[in-house]
Amino acid sequence: MENKKDLLDMTFEELKEAFTTLGYPAYRAKQVHQWLYSGQLDINNMSNLPKEMRERIAGKFIAGGVKIAEKLISKIDGTRKYLFELKDGNIIESVLMKYHYGYSVCLSTQVGCRMGCAFCASASLGMIRNLTVSELLAQVLTIGHDIGERISHVVLMGIGEPFDNYNTVMEFMRRINREDTLNISFRKMTVSTCGIVPRILEFAREGIPVNLSVSLHAPNDEIRQRTMPVAKRWSFDELLSACKEYTRITSRRITYEYSMIENENDSVEFAEILGKKLKGTLCHVNLIPVNTIEGIGFSKSSRARIEDFKRTLEGYGIAVTVRRELGSDIMAACGQLRRNKIT
Ligand code: SAH
Repeated sequence: MENKKDLLDMTFEELKEAFTTLGYPAYRAKQVHQWLYSGQLDINNMSNLPKEMRERIAGKFIAGGVKIAEKLISKIDGTRKYLFELKDGNIIESVLMKYHYGYSVCLSTQVGCRMGCAFCASASLGMIRNLTVSELLAQVLTIGHDIGERISHVVLMGIGEPFDNYNTVMEFMRRINREDTLNISFRKMTVSTCGIVPRILEFAREGIPVNLSVSLHAPNDEIRQRTMPVAKRWSFDELLSACKEYTRITSRRITYEYSMIENENDSVEFAEILGKKLKGTLCHVNLIPVNTIEGIGFSKSSRARIEDFKRTLEGYGIAVTVRRELGSDIMAACGQLRRNKIT
């Protein structure tokens, strides 16, 4: 693999420095920067640069190095699933969803994942490597360019554990927040973790108002440890106190994700246990009917069981929503498409 430097891994200041070192005036760096954040990642198509400059730059740099390997568009709701091929041949996936408030992308943060959650399609394939800032940027930029619309929301809930690639993820969020890049407000970004306690505490002190989701999926250690290996490292109580500390520092509400798995974690009794623990905390619970993955023996809770669970939690004064399922005809959920592609 050729070892060219990636323009998207560089800040504007670094671009300026690299371009002036090559003998170009600083405004060229500004032009390239504008192209990059407009989603034009093909250096040869940056039409206001002289041809020989484009050729020279393309000989020295890449921009993302990511190609759309496959694109699926849901006939039901217009959700789009993108499979991207990275420069080393690895495959990741991202999802574009249209809401009344704008376009939201769900991005991958790693090639694979080492967290090992039993119900998750990505975990079953193991961890290959972390994504770079440029590969995170390339996902959102390529999708924005492909649809020709502004992306208003970014959620880091695709393949991988964002807090296992912490510094890259923080740098990425700060980068897309800048006015001269994508100008996406921190409040329109969400990061989701399976519960890496020290990183939750570190994140609380970053001073950026990004939304935090925590994947809970169980009301206590016994149930949580059955499906989530991370629960053996940090107990339910440790996780909950880190979340309370996060709220104390940031005054921000946490969203708890709870995948509803039939006869595993979806009884009213479990809703009671969870309700007692979360009562009075600044939170919101999002119930997700689990996506059944071929070869993994979990099935979705029935509508009735989800409603009972929801009502029980609400009895404790907790805000609860049930996640709308988008893109069910294109395997939009949770690493399913990549899994199909590479197994
Ligand atoms: N590693 C992070 C983010 C990626 S997963 C995390 O764990 O939060 C995004 C969400 O999808 C998590 O809540 C995860 O537990 C959930 N998820 C994974 N597989 C799922 C499945 N088969 N059905 C429903 N939700 C699933």
